Amino acid sequence: MMGEVYLIGAGPGDPELLTLKALKYIRMADVALVDDLVGDEVKDIVRKEVEEVIEVGKREGKHRKTQEEINRLMYELAKKGKKVARVKGGDPFVFGRGGEEAEYLAERGVRIKIIPGITSAFAGAESAGIPLNHRNFDPGILIIPGREREGEERIDWSAVAKIKATIVILMGISSLERNVRRLLENGKDPDTMVAIVENATTERQRVIEGKLSDIAEIAKRRNVKAPAIIVIGDVVELRDKIKEYLQ
Ligand code: SAH
Repeated sequence: MMGEVYLIGAGPGDPELLTLKALKYIRMADVALVDDLVGDEVKDIVRKEVEEVIEVGKREGKHRKTQEEINRLMYELAKKGKKVARVKGGDPFVFGRGGEEAEYLAERGVRIKIIPGITSAFAGAESAGIPLNHRNFDPGILIIPGREREGEERIDWSAVAKIKATIVILMGISSLERNVRRLLENGKDPDTMVAIVENATTERQRVIEGKLSDIAEIAKRRNVKAPAIIVIGDVVELRDKIKEYLQ
């Protein structure tokens, strides 16, 4: 009999942000394919609960599994009748390529279960004391990737610069300088506040603040590394009011 695949969002890192449903399906699985981005403590839970754990984000020697290899592996395991937990950071359908995985499996007749997770786009801002929405600030929230497939860039930065929304950029550290320049060139106010939240919701969380005009330089000086989210918008200033009281 054909097995099935659970596409599980493991949340941003803090194991307490794993949902009850995620844990339930992790426990049901025979084998787990775990992404690099999944928090260390969540990985520990998966190792404890699942008999066979494959860390697909890890480099073995030089080789890191490609998306195609991961897709094929899930399919092969399901074909053997296994219940497969595909454990991904944050929410499986927020820039996690979960959609491509679901599509691949559905095309091959594999039953899938999609288990939402808490995305770092929201939890990252919140854990730094930044409400992405507040009535006194921009009304919307825009979540975009900092980089796209080479040669296939579709983000309209002039529109992004104009939109009345707090902007959250994921996968944006290596391209920070370039994207800040694009926003400034398209007329975004250089005084717009920016916060970068590195390793959000983990013990290693770090928050770096600046303005659009100087954040790239500050991030470089403070050696900011992925994974981190970038929040651009004046609502960032509320953090200064809130942070002292954050537990
Ligand atoms: N599906 C994930 C996002 C995958 S894309 C989610 O919903 O969160 C990978 C990007 O997510 C990283 O480059 C980083 O921008 C962000 N990210 C994931 N975990 C993070 C964390 N703990 N702290 C800060 N950013 C994180």
